[in-house]
Parts: sequence; C-alpha cells; structure tokens
Amino acid sequence: MGAAIALFVSGCAAGLVGGLWIARRRRRSDAAAVAALPALERPGRTAEEVLRGDDDAAMVELDALVLKDELRPFLVDVARQHGAREVTVWRSSSADDPVLDIVACSADGTPPVGATWGNAVERSLVAWSAAEQMVGFERRDGEPRIAICPVKFASGEAAGAIVLAADERFTTGRDALRDWLPRHASQVARLVSVVSTRNVVARQSKYMRALLRITRDLQKTHEPDKLEGEICRYALLVTGADFASLVRWDATARSGTVTAATEGTPASLAGGAVATTSMAGVACLEASTSFWEDARFLKERGGVLRDDEGLTAGSLALLPLLRSGVAIGALVIGAHRTGALRTLEVRNGTLLGTLAVNALEVVWELAETSRRSRTDALTGLWNRRHFDEQLERVLAETDRFGGSCALVICDIDFFKKVNDTFGHDAGDAVLQRVSAVLRDGVRTVDVCARLGGEELALILPQTSLEGAVELAERLRQRTEAMVVSHAGASIRVTVSIGVATYSAGSDAKGQVFKRADERLYEAKHGGRNRVVS
Ligand code: GH3
Ligand code: MG
Ligand code: MG
Repeated sequence: MGAAIALFVSGCAAGLVGGLWIARRRRRSDAAAVAALPALERPGRTAEEVLRGDDDAAMVELDALVLKDELRPFLVDVARQHGAREVTVWRSSSADDPVLDIVACSADGTPPVGATWGNAVERSLVAWSAAEQMVGFERRDGEPRIAICPVKFASGEAAGAIVLAADERFTTGRDALRDWLPRHASQVARLVSVVSTRNVVARQSKYMRALLRITRDLQKTHEPDKLEGEICRYALLVTGADFASLVRWDATARSGTVTAATEGTPASLAGGAVATTSMAGVACLEASTSFWEDARFLKERGGVLRDDEGLTAGSLALLPLLRSGVAIGALVIGAHRTGALRTLEVRNGTLLGTLAVNALEVVWELAETSRRSRTDALTGLWNRRHFDEQLERVLAETDRFGGSCALVICDIDFFKKVNDTFGHDAGDAVLQRVSAVLRDGVRTVDVCARLGGEELALILPQTSLEGAVELAERLRQRTEAMVVSHAGASIRVTVSIGVATYSAGSDAKGQVFKRADERLYEAKHGGRNRVVS
C-alpha cells in the first residue's frame, strides 16, 4: 500500500513540478476586490443595493482574499521550518466538486491562487488519502522533494491538502516530516475554520446593514397600505422567500385579517380573515414562531389562515409581530422550494418583524383613530364630517373625469312614532337595520353616511340619474318589506328619498345637496314612502 501511495503521489508531484498550473477561473485582482469593500459600506445605499448580487460576488472574492492573507504567514513559517521552496494549500471548491484549487501559498502570487491541480486519478488519490489521513512523498534519489498531507476541514465535507515542495531536499528528514505535517494540516484546518466563521459573520452583517436601512425607510412611510406592502416586499428581500403576506391581528377580539400580500402569494394566504384556531391564529395567540422547512404536508392539514383551506408551499414560516409580548400581527413567508426557509432566513424575517412593529403600530393606530372619528357609533355608517369631505371629493372628481355623480338622501317616515310606541331602544334597532339595508345595497365605491337623527345619505360616484333612482327605489322597497323584531314587537317602517345628480362642468356644485333635500321634502309632502328625483 505504501508503494502505491508513493506512486500515486509521485504522479501528483510530477504534475506539480512539471508546472501544470491551469487557471480554472479568471479572478479579479486583489486590488479590485479591496476596491469593492468601501462600496459595501457606502451609507447612501438602499437595502436592495446592500443585498444585491454583485455585492455577493465581491463578498466571495473578499472571502478568498482573506483566506489567502490569513494563511500565508503560517505557510511561510512552515516553509522556513522545513527548508521548503514553497508551501501551498489546496482545497476542493465544494463537496460535489472534486477539482482542487490553490487557496493559499507561502510565496506571493506563485503559483497563482485559483489554479487547478491534478487529473482525475490524482484527485481521487487525494480524496482517498484524505479519508485515510496518510502523508505521502514524492522522492528523487531517495530524498523527498514533495510532501503532501491531507487536510480535513472543519466542515468535514470538503477535503484538501497541504503540499510542501523543495528545490533539492527538505532540511528536516522524512520521519520528522511525517510527524510534523499532520500538525501543520490541523493548524491549516483551524485557520480555515476561523476564516469561514468570519465570512459567515460578514454575510450576516450585510443583512444587518440592509435591515437598518429598511428600518429607516419604514419610518418614513405613513400610509398603511404602502407600509404593509413594503414590509412584505422587504420580507422577500431579507429571507429569500418567494411570497409574503401580512396579517393584522386584534389580540382583544382574537381575530385577524390579511392586509397585504406580494404577487404570487397562494390564494389561501393572500387575503381574508384569519381564524383563531388556524395555525397563524395560534401563532398570534401564543406569540410563538412556527416554521416548516418542508411544508408540503401542510396541504393535507390545511388551516394555515383558515380551517378549511389548504395550500401549496415548499417551506413556510409564521412570524408573529410582537409588541410587549403581544401579537399585533404576523408575517407569513413562504417559498416554493422545500428547505428554502431555514433558521437563518427565519431569524432575518423575525428581525424585520421586530423592526417593523413600531412603524406598523403607529400607522395602524392613526388610521383607526381617524376611522373612528369619521364613523357613526350607532349605525357604523360614516358620519357627517366624512360625508362632507367625500361629497366635495366626488364632485371634484366628476369635474375631472367627466360623467355625473348622484346624491341620495333618505329619511325614515314617522320615526318619532316608532320611538313613542316601542321605546327609544326599538328606534335605535330600526335605525341600525335601515342603515344595514343601505350599506348592503351599494357598491364599495359608494359612500354611505348618517347625516344626523334618522336621516341617511348615499354618495354615488359615476352614476346617472336613472341609475340612482333605480337604486333608491330598490332600497325603498327593501325597507318597506323588512320587519324589525324588537322585545316581542314586530316593527315596520318606510323611507322617503330625494335624489339629485351633478354633471361634470355644471357650476351647481353647492346646489346638489339643497336639491336632494328639497326632493326629500317633496316626497314627504307627496305622501311619504316614495322616491322623488
Ligand atoms: P317624518 O316622516 O316627517 O320624517 O316624521 P318623523 O317622525 O320621522 O320626523 P321627526 O323629525 O318629527 O322625528 C324624528 C325623530 O327621530 C325625533 C328623534 O327623537 C328621533 N331620533 C333622532 N335620532 C335618534 C336616535 O339616534 N335614536 C332614536 N331612537 N331616535 C332618534
Ligand atoms: Mg323622519
Ligand atoms: Mg328627520
């Protein structure tokens, strides 16, 4: 066996000594890699720029450069100790790639770092000798001129070797080399491991820089829709996920809704309510992160956001957004590929969530306060203040885009009698039910408001007089057909309705409300329970 090794190793050495340096990849010069460094740190860059691909290339070059520089002084020492002309470290690029690259050399620039070594037989010898942990020599006239010792790197995956070459002979004998080389090899492995750790940390620090920029950008966004969309987009950026959606969670009501999702989010995660008993609901309630590197089985289980719906995802994570330990929402991130989301990705997503929570809470609270100040507490319809603003907006938009809009004012007939006969609570119940008839009978673009008392109004953008009258008539009939049961009583009411329209360019903007009100008055005087236009 020893002879076989010597033979094989002689073959390798012949390749070495014969100057078989084949550059496998062209690499940028060291100076170019160093020049890339300040660019990574430039403060004006966006999160996208910090994490962009060309930075990755620069990082890889930087990694190689650091490794070479860290190893060289040690290799120079080894060369001096044994009287070697040069000492080199060889490493296969990855576990699946048996081609060995020179990653460091005692001499500056010779042989070139990145050169490829050996033929298939030789490479398989190194792989074999790495497994056997044997030292090999190439001899000439009985004296070793080349000494090879396999290096087992910390990862245990990629194998490599430390190679000593002498001009004539080493100053230390064969036995001493046999004794020393494994020690040098393990020191190389330790240094490589330290450099690898440094590179992982450098990469993580790149994510931290991106996250800091993201935080800065999020604080500048004040519209809820925009902020929610940005958080989803950034989630993709820092986790490498393929899709992301954002859940807003109400810890008191123990319920949530999806408020934003990136393109390509599976339908069952892209919108709608979040059930308390669903996986996301439980993650919010328990303030606990869940993730599945392999999420394919979730399809059978279903119920990520709702009990009844399954999904297709390779991996998935549910990251609650916590405020003082209580969830105010959750990030749902997923990837098509199994194993795409692991601890590092989830950690970056969680960090993003931690940084986003503050901005989200502020805009959500402001939006909620604003909504409340514009909503009528009894009926849930918009109040007079919001109505006035919206009427002004819709009239202006009609001027800008053309066409016409309509205003419908609606008053419950003999409402005083309802109060007098059945009590004020019964009156409230009737008011709520009539409001619901109106709200459920209109489009989402329409504005449905309570002007005061039992007077309700609709603003209908881009609507003709015929369309508005048709709608008003339908609402009148529905109200007439409705029976409100309250405290054992069955109450029926009718409504009178006035309709007016505004056409683009006419200067009667201030008149539209007055006209609708006059027509309501006409409807009352004409006998009530009718529409006048
Ligand atoms: P008309 O057909 O002419 O409209 O007669 P009406 O009785 O409906 O009109 P009127 O303006 O005389 O009475 C309106 C009543 O609505 C008086 C007021 O007490 C009652 N009302 C106003 N706001 C509320 C409310 O929030 N809840 C209840 N229950 N009643 C209200
Ligand atoms: Mg009335
Ligand atoms: Mg009234």
